[in-house]
Amino acid sequence: MWPLLTFLAAALLLGVHLWWKRKHALMLADYRSRTDELQNLRQERVKESSQKQAQQEALLNSMVEGVLVLDAAGRIQLANPSLEKLLNISKNVHDQTILEAFRIQELSELAKRLPEEKIVRGFELELPGMEEQWVEVNAAAVLDRSGTLHGSILVFRDLTRIKQLENTRQEFVANVSHELRTPLSLIKGFVETLLEGAKDDPELNTRFLKTIEKHTDRLTYLIEDLLTISRLESGQVLMNFHPVNLREEAQRVYDDLASRAQEKNVTLCNDLPEAMTARADSDRLQQVFFNLVENALKYGRSEGHVWVGARENEKGKIEVWVRDDGPGIPEDSKERIFERFYRVDRARSRDTGGTGLGLSIVKHIVQAHGGEVWVKSEIGEGSTFFLTLPQAEE
Ligand code: ADP
Repeated sequence: MWPLLTFLAAALLLGVHLWWKRKHALMLADYRSRTDELQNLRQERVKESSQKQAQQEALLNSMVEGVLVLDAAGRIQLANPSLEKLLNISKNVHDQTILEAFRIQELSELAKRLPEEKIVRGFELELPGMEEQWVEVNAAAVLDRSGTLHGSILVFRDLTRIKQLENTRQEFVANVSHELRTPLSLIKGFVETLLEGAKDDPELNTRFLKTIEKHTDRLTYLIEDLLTISRLESGQVLMNFHPVNLREEAQRVYDDLASRAQEKNVTLCNDLPEAMTARADSDRLQQVFFNLVENALKYGRSEGHVWVGARENEKGKIEVWVRDDGPGIPEDSKERIFERFYRVDRARSRDTGGTGLGLSIVKHIVQAHGGEVWVKSEIGEGSTFFLTLPQAEE
């Protein structure tokens, strides 16, 4: 009996032991799988948060606008690459105040106002420096639901180009009004003098009417030139490119201006090679030749010469020149004569019916052909205007 009981007890113990071991193993496996799961979850979270951070960084780095993040104490926590470029930051500005980092009083004051004003839109600021530079700042305080301040964000947009365009537009309007007003007030003056009695004097009558005619012509040229320039600048002029024989185009312009040349005893020389063809818009190219040859006649000397010629330059482009043996152009005016309304001698330009737009039109047309225009001149030695054009077969 005892041996049987002992055997049963031993078997029971063994069974309990095996059951316990198995349960323990199961518990261990369960625990392991849970910790694995937890670890995976943690790893995923870390991955997600670093992905988010990378996305945020990429977003800030790719933004055209400059971004500046400040903490609640007004110290810089982040400045994105666009801002570094805009404000020309080369040093590490982390944890500095705006005043320490950029030395811009107005910006520092704007940041100080933020906690109270919460949001500031469209704040325009001229940056200190040699070159004119403008920015627009939009800024907001960062507050949590309870209204506690955590910092602020300032977004900067470069306004320089817009400001420059605005200045150019204002200057243009002022110039145009001035150019229109001058002949108009002259015309009015002569009409008044005629009405006051000069009309009864046949000699004065004719002289004054001729002057009035001259100034009305000037107004017409001015309006025509203004329209041309405005169309060229807005890209409304569609160029009709064709192979164009340069010598023939220049000759047409010479024929149109022959009587003007005769009045001043100027010899017009066409040195353009017979078979040189450019890819150009014939009408526009004639306008270029007309403006340059007309200037050579207007500003050149009496009994002088005008030459047109061309060669193929090192870059395979056609280089055309219009040369005169007139008084030349002063060094400091060479660049500026291509600007709208710039004249070396205002009175002389007006006397000859000039609008101050001729060379600006030339520049626009040549640029629309993919070319360049420049001038070489020595005082007393004459002036040579150069322009490049593509060859017909390009
Ligand atoms: P404008 O209507 O006054 O002639 P342009 O734009 O054609 O206007 O020329 C600008 C200025 O450049 C002229 O007013 C003149 O002072 C100068 N200029 C142009 N061509 C010549 C030239 N061939 N010789 C000397 N000065 C010139």
